[in-house]
Amino acid sequence: MSKFWSPIVEKLVPYTPGEQPTHQKFIKLNTNENPYGPLPLVIDAIRAATDDGLRLYPDPTAADLKNAIASTLKLDVNYVFVGNGSDEVLAHSFNAFFHRTEPVLFADVTYSFYKTYCELYALRYREVCLNEAFEYDTRDYCVPCGGIVIANPNAPTGIGMRLENIEKILTQNSDIVVIVDEAYVDFGGESAVELLRRFENLVVLQTFSKSRSLAGLRVGFAIAQPHLIEALQRVKDSFNSYPVGRLALEGARAAWADHEWFEKTRQLVIADRDRMSEGLKAIGFRVLPSATNFIFAAHESVPGEKLFAALRSEGILVRRFSDDRTKNWLRISVGTSQDCALLLASTRKIVAGAVERTG
Ligand code: PMP
Repeated sequence: MSKFWSPIVEKLVPYTPGEQPTHQKFIKLNTNENPYGPLPLVIDAIRAATDDGLRLYPDPTAADLKNAIASTLKLDVNYVFVGNGSDEVLAHSFNAFFHRTEPVLFADVTYSFYKTYCELYALRYREVCLNEAFEYDTRDYCVPCGGIVIANPNAPTGIGMRLENIEKILTQNSDIVVIVDEAYVDFGGESAVELLRRFENLVVLQTFSKSRSLAGLRVGFAIAQPHLIEALQRVKDSFNSYPVGRLALEGARAAWADHEWFEKTRQLVIADRDRMSEGLKAIGFRVLPSATNFIFAAHESVPGEKLFAALRSEGILVRRFSDDRTKNWLRISVGTSQDCALLLASTRKIVAGAVERTG
């Protein structure tokens, strides 16, 4: 702390991302990255853009990438906004749409960046308790509020919300913007994109970091009616005119154009996720139904903290959160089939050892 800090910075609790080890080699199942790298043609597109053109700023409107996204989604290009990862697009959306008069609503167990953005932008917020099964009740979102953000599928639970429930929340809150964060939607969620024409208060966010294997490039996007996209554009152009670099624009465009690799890797991840879930259930884990590329699981007798540490010492990184409701749970990203088999083998060994010691 320093006397030079603003009151906002003094109170900020920054988001803590999962560990990105720089030296030790881990099986990395802690930040929901895609285990299958981008297609070689995506790397080629980035290489091709690595030339003298780098001395020039990128297209501030990201027109080619936005056009590609819009055309696949059968929308006009002015329905699309592109940013430096969906985190940045989220931040701009909080800034552009949420009111300060009433609290912003989001679940008590969800992406913790939502709380950080509220603090950063001095927005009040209220965390709405999910039920015992970590599910939403749409009635909780029928109260005066300054905005709503829903991760669908939710993170870290992995649970997807039915589109009819998203629709209910949008209808109940027609004067409030509802952000639906679809970072993981391609692994089994129901996208709200099809609701965009009917709901003027809907903002859908997606990312190239997960199903498109490009977390390192930092590209995310919002899709919404043009009056909302214009607000995002205004915020962006008051903050950073060039949030997406030349290489990122080209890589993302090439990744978006591919369908085969996207489909193949997404199916591999889904199949391994389901196998891993069954394997963990068989050794005493409660595993939530996942529509994402990770699973959220807690063991009936071995504490999460112990499992986390034991897996780490076996060279496997998973994610654990420290808040009361989820401190016993692990969020495990789906790796390659081999990663998943190793995770299961190590977990079986750790659980058997722990049960033997206490038995
Ligand atoms: N939303 C959710 C729910 C996430 O888990 C993440 C990844 N941490 C993001 C958004 C942001 O992803 P990115 O900035 O890589 O697009």
